[in-house]
Amino acid sequence: MAGMYAVYHGPKGLKAIAGQIHKQARTLAYGLKKLGYTLAYDQYFDTITINADSNTGKVESLAVANEMNFRYHSNGSVSISVDETTTKNDVAGIIAVFAKAASRDFKNNGIGTDADPSGLESHKHFRKSEFLSHPVFSEYHSETNMLRYLKRLENKDLSLAHSMIALGSCTMKLNATSEMAPLSWPEFSSMHPFVPVDQAAGYQEIIADLERDLCVITGFDAVSLQPNSGAQGEYAGLMVIRNYFLSKGEGHRDISLIPSSAHGTNPASAVMAGMKVVVVKCDEKGNIDVADLREKAEKYSRQLACLMVTYPSTHGVYESSIKEITNIIHQHGGQVYMDGANMNAQVGLTNPGMIGADVCHLNLHKTFAIPHGGGGPGMGPIGVAKHLAPFLPGHPVVKCGGSANTTPVSAAPWGSASILLISYGYIKMMGRTGLREATQIAILNANYIRKKLEKHYPILYQGENGNVAHEMILDCRAFKLSAGIEVTDIAKRLMDYGFHAPTVSFPVAGTIMVEPTESESQDELDRFIDAMISIRHEIAEVESGSVNKDNNVLVNAPHTAAELTADEWNYPYTRHKAAYPLPYVQQAKFWPSVKRVDNAFGDRNLVCTCPDVESYAEAI
Ligand SMILES: *Cc1c(COP(=O)(O)O)cnc(C)c1O
Repeated sequence: MAGMYAVYHGPKGLKAIAGQIHKQARTLAYGLKKLGYTLAYDQYFDTITINADSNTGKVESLAVANEMNFRYHSNGSVSISVDETTTKNDVAGIIAVFAKAASRDFKNNGIGTDADPSGLESHKHFRKSEFLSHPVFSEYHSETNMLRYLKRLENKDLSLAHSMIALGSCTMKLNATSEMAPLSWPEFSSMHPFVPVDQAAGYQEIIADLERDLCVITGFDAVSLQPNSGAQGEYAGLMVIRNYFLSKGEGHRDISLIPSSAHGTNPASAVMAGMKVVVVKCDEKGNIDVADLREKAEKYSRQLACLMVTYPSTHGVYESSIKEITNIIHQHGGQVYMDGANMNAQVGLTNPGMIGADVCHLNLHKTFAIPHGGGGPGMGPIGVAKHLAPFLPGHPVVKCGGSANTTPVSAAPWGSASILLISYGYIKMMGRTGLREATQIAILNANYIRKKLEKHYPILYQGENGNVAHEMILDCRAFKLSAGIEVTDIAKRLMDYGFHAPTVSFPVAGTIMVEPTESESQDELDRFIDAMISIRHEIAEVESGSVNKDNNVLVNAPHTAAELTADEWNYPYTRHKAAYPLPYVQQAKFWPSVKRVDNAFGDRNLVCTCPDVESYAEAI
């Protein structure tokens, strides 16, 4: 949104908007000075601070009566920000409040029209250099052009609007319109995070209700809605554990045991929270090696802070030893942090409290229906058992959190509060039985795919009964030897079939992790299964030597629209085979627009991804 704001207005538009904002601020400053007030400083852009002195109390009560909120500093001064939505009438209204508070006549000459000579004008702070010089910032300045530009970008994106995104561990489920609609209601979207709590009764009700529902769902006593992501929830949860130990005089407990199957955010959060990471092995079935866990828990018994554990694990199985595992940690005085990213396989059937966790985060943007393609915004609240509740993060401006007044983990008291509406709507509309059924269907859908694909792809890990949880890992590592086909080739080829790739090479390199969620119908699952089986046949063609190892539909995928429609076609297979590998594709063809990028170069020149768990382990 912020990026597109700049695209739409461009450098000239932004300057004009800034000029208008500054003019309003100066008009306000002029009026207030005329009334006898002084400014705390005369260099400002959009925010002025007024020394209201003995009038502050009167200003506040008059402002509230006129439905205005200002910022009141502890020294009695008052700050006011204006923006491009502030009108002349708004400015006049604010001045009227200050005039009345000072018992002055508002009809002074120039008040509400003339501008204060201070601000930026007198200080030569104006920018001289160019900015936003990229052409994109000067091409789309009409609403029609903007709409078409956005649509063009959207058309390049293989999204949930085309087909299922079976992104293992990420739980890409339906984000229902009925859950999303309230986000655009100004009653919710125009609320400032620091608005006096008594003016946000609706939010307060939703927040309290959602906290209660999440307590029921997790089996915990208290919830903090402050963290903005799963990773931030991990950090918050670990800080809760740390503060709990500090309060008991056990601040020396700083070791976090983390299984090698964990998501990269787990060790990263532990390090950020000042803990040392000790990696616990997994056995050949993908389960936590309980003997190794016991040994390490004993070895570090005195220093043990916590275990970070994901259930079901990122290997896609319910580990039957989970309660034994949480017990071992408790026996050594440690706390159990549960990574709740896989709650879609727990809700209504079991919960972290029952399993023996003391704290867990919930990715509301996974299990609880907030959309999260493209990196957010998300919400990662944490739930905690009773003994940890006092240490939930607080906030210096708005009262919230536990009694111990722990420092906040994000700027706003309830994180990205507006998107809580989505999860609230999801939980309320699904209800108790609906939520449980969703979990059951998610597990059923995963096992349907597992059953249909196990003849074609080895399923890397399965539970004791041969089932998987809500996701599964398809082992593609052998194809490299048998056909020179990498897991990336499969991921790219899926685009030709109209599917976004599942999760690639997490948590095991060379594999793909498939999570269909409850949102997909059997038809859609069948299309995906057909695509995967068809790709397996294409791999077999390479294995048998009937097609060229270095020049085939897999290594050349995806086939872009430009390639498929070019006059020249140099591949040893038909355009039809490249573009329409199965009959269903003709009904709903997605046209890839970008060929492969240089992954290795990208890896070295873009923001880093999560390193593996081992690289965090400290030599202790
Ligand atoms: C997604 C995920 C996380 C991190 O959550 P974010 O909201 O992306 O920060 C942590 N652990 C697991 C297992 C996950 O799948």
